[in-house]
Amino acid sequence: MHPLRPRHTLLCLCLVPAILAGQGSFAIPTDQPSVKRALDDIKSSNSWMLDQQLSICEIPAPDFKEQARAAEFKKRLIALGYPNTRIDTAGNVIAERAGTGNGPTVMLAGHLDTVFPEGTDVKVKRDGNKFAAPGIGDDCRGLAVVLAVAKALNEGQIQTNGKVILVGNVGEEGEGNLRGVRELLTSGYKGKIDYFISVDGLGLHVVDRAVGSKRYDVKFKGPGGHSYGAFGMPSAIHAMGRAIALISDVQVPASPKTTYTVGIVKGGTSVNSIAGDASMEVDMRSESLANLDSAEARIRRAIDAGVAAENKRWPNSPAKIAVKFDTIGIRPIGAKLQTDDSPIVRTALEASKALGAEQTPTGASSTDSNLPMSLGIPAITIGGGGKGSGAHSLTETFEETPDGYKGPQWALLIVTALAGTRASVTP
Ligand SMILES: [Zn+2]
Repeated sequence: MHPLRPRHTLLCLCLVPAILAGQGSFAIPTDQPSVKRALDDIKSSNSWMLDQQLSICEIPAPDFKEQARAAEFKKRLIALGYPNTRIDTAGNVIAERAGTGNGPTVMLAGHLDTVFPEGTDVKVKRDGNKFAAPGIGDDCRGLAVVLAVAKALNEGQIQTNGKVILVGNVGEEGEGNLRGVRELLTSGYKGKIDYFISVDGLGLHVVDRAVGSKRYDVKFKGPGGHSYGAFGMPSAIHAMGRAIALISDVQVPASPKTTYTVGIVKGGTSVNSIAGDASMEVDMRSESLANLDSAEARIRRAIDAGVAAENKRWPNSPAKIAVKFDTIGIRPIGAKLQTDDSPIVRTALEASKALGAEQTPTGASSTDSNLPMSLGIPAITIGGGGKGSGAHSLTETFEETPDGYKGPQWALLIVTALAGTRASVTP
């Protein structure tokens, strides 16, 4: 963020009175003719958008293998009037739409990747308004919303003050470890993004707080040996068992919610061997960085104590058990929590109200927005409308609801409110 850049000075002139007036959000530009045209375009193009969602979904995109879907997404953005759409070194598809003057830069993203391995059948099955396919909601809906917003901005001939950057990013899911947004926000667009919005999930809801996570593969190693002949040696499995027993007793705060689990255990070679190898995968999560760090410290101490107890059990053994931590993934969170009162969240809630939504839930989750939040960039993840079930499962469904088009309308309103339109920026 560049507080010294002149466009921020300009922005502050109009922002401060709004916040002082108790609104704490940007004006929602529903009264502007260009925005009205864009909202109409989204509503009347609903079946076009659904086609985008279904056809994108039928291009497989496992983590690290998003290239084919990325190439198609780029082609579609170019066809919608974004000739400079490009793919960066990480594989993110990026279309920039220039602003007219000084205003904040807003990035709107959907993620290209899925949790499904190569070879998964991604053909969409239709049953009335219900569509079934792995990834149909998560996040083909988000990608379709980004395309619908890209189309509507041009159809409505909206002139935003700040630049709008439309993105299909890689690496949101599991092993991807947020590599797409990490590249965008810590390299390609480092210091240049003022607001980040990810469209991920269905319906109208706001993820405004991040659940951070740390995941480790913990390996226990010892000499191993015959169960009878080498009895008296420490066992990697026994050490791991002691460690798991101690981990199970770790107390964590209920608020902010902090969790842990040993999700996978492996080890040993045969029933009549003292195990030389054992490993476990541990997952820890929290909305609070301090809680997460403290849970991690206690779990590491539990592991060290388990290993020490196993080694102590066999004092005459010359060989000892050793332990090694490998990182599987770390989802970052900022030291400072974003709250429901921050302007980006207030703006999203005002925008959904403008569309007639009575109550828009807010909550915490682990999404692409974790990364900008950890950098102090205001960020939210919003639902893309419609409804569905079974995300991350082969039986995932998406259901088109009568007000499904409000998902992309909402995204459009948030983007235009944040980037500012000509009329709304007058101090
Ligand atoms: Zn997702």
